[in-house]
Amino acid sequence: MKLKWLLVGMISTLAWGHPLVSIDIQNKTPIQGDAVWIKIKSSKVISSGTITLNKKNFTLFKNNNSASDYLSCIGVSRFSKAKKTKLRFSFSFTDGSQYKTSLPITIRSANFKKEHITLKPKKYKISQDNTSKKNEGRLIGKAFKTITRSKAFNDAFLWPLDGRISSTFGKQRIYNNTPGWSHSGTDIAAKEGAPIKATQSGTVVLSESLRVHGNTVMINHGWGIVSVYNHLHQLNVKMNDKVTKGDMIGTVGSTGIATGPHLHFGISVQSVRVNPETWVNKTSIPHF
Ligand SMILES: [Zn+2]
Repeated sequence: MKLKWLLVGMISTLAWGHPLVSIDIQNKTPIQGDAVWIKIKSSKVISSGTITLNKKNFTLFKNNNSASDYLSCIGVSRFSKAKKTKLRFSFSFTDGSQYKTSLPITIRSANFKKEHITLKPKKYKISQDNTSKKNEGRLIGKAFKTITRSKAFNDAFLWPLDGRISSTFGKQRIYNNTPGWSHSGTDIAAKEGAPIKATQSGTVVLSESLRVHGNTVMINHGWGIVSVYNHLHQLNVKMNDKVTKGDMIGTVGSTGIATGPHLHFGISVQSVRVNPETWVNKTSIPHF
């Protein structure tokens, strides 16, 4: 009896070495701020899956359009070191077994530039309001953490505003000679009152007037992908509203820390801010 179970154990151990899991990494040499889609096929049903990059865990999602496909979008942080590293994979299957593996990727430098910003005294005073910064950071951070296992999108994202890009993602900002945070999104300058569109369909997870970030809208698109719109003049949506890609969610303003009317547009992938320009223009969002 004992020998029989020992043999069964050995066979299942051998089977783990050939788990019939195939991993397709969309881009193995991403730049800081890139989003990387990962597609997984498995002959066994995965009950939960995690992909780890630089100690940050990303959840794996079931693609309902196919019985054997799982997808995840990985955010390569703008703070991550440009170097060769590993993506670590951990899968649990419904039969109780597990499988772990890792694959190499190389993160390339985005060569983020410095940017000097001169704020007028009134706006500079707001920029030094650490209590508001902390409270708003907590509120926005909580909304970015929203992860829903269903997604509200099937196609590419939309650029939310017609206008000139006035500041790119990742710039090292220096406010009135004081070093600040690096830029977490893209600024698009346009006339006050110009309409801002939802980059993708989803549910509003924040619509509030904030002192530092200005009037802010955040939309949850599912699978850990959340978009943010700051410095609005008018807020046209409220919390829990369902929006469709292209819906007008507000108008351009200069509320909060702003030197003029513009939209700060950001996209976050499971709480990692990614470059909205590459995200939106990317035609390589997988066909679901
Ligand atoms: Zn900005």
